[in-house]
Amino acid sequence: MTLPTDGTAGWFSRIPTTQKIAFITIDDGWEKNPLALKLFQAARVPITLFLEINAIKADPGFFTPLQSAGAVIENHTISHPNLKGRPYAFQKQEICGGADQLAQYYGRRPVLFRPPGGTHDANTLKAVHDCGMKAAFFWTETTDHGKVFFQQGNTVQPGDIILMHFRPRFVDDFLAVLKAIHDAGLTPARLADYIP
Ligand SMILES: [Zn+2]
Repeated sequence: MTLPTDGTAGWFSRIPTTQKIAFITIDDGWEKNPLALKLFQAARVPITLFLEINAIKADPGFFTPLQSAGAVIENHTISHPNLKGRPYAFQKQEICGGADQLAQYYGRRPVLFRPPGGTHDANTLKAVHDCGMKAAFFWTETTDHGKVFFQQGNTVQPGDIILMHFRPRFVDDFLAVLKAIHDAGLTPARLADYIP
């Protein structure tokens, strides 16, 4: 696993590894399910949250205790724009601004980034790097309505990155993700640990 040395951030849809691990990522933050903390505490697995400032700013404190239950908070912009094709300055403002605000809320500046909708271009990866983050991520599975959707095959593969959201069926989605990883004989891992 290496990162670019040309002033841009790395871009990954999955982590190249043969270790029996997969990555749980949860985006945005609109739906603040009161059961999330208990779920995380019971599951005791690493989880990566890509939080959007506009989705969390009414209640950033909801996410604070999730950190001691295994969640690491990473960056997902301020206002969730489609970044691809937008000027560098615009992208930088959204990306640096998100990281700055998250650092203020949670006392740790993010090192990872997920572009809204996964869309990005060269300016995105340059801005991610210039804003102090190392890598940006797409995904290999999505989750909704209590089901996991596979882009390839029908099982989670080592190094896969599973995307879910803070949505109304958060509990069903989270349990479906845990089951899919378990059924594949894998264990959830922390994304930041696999980025040098
Ligand atoms: Zn999003």
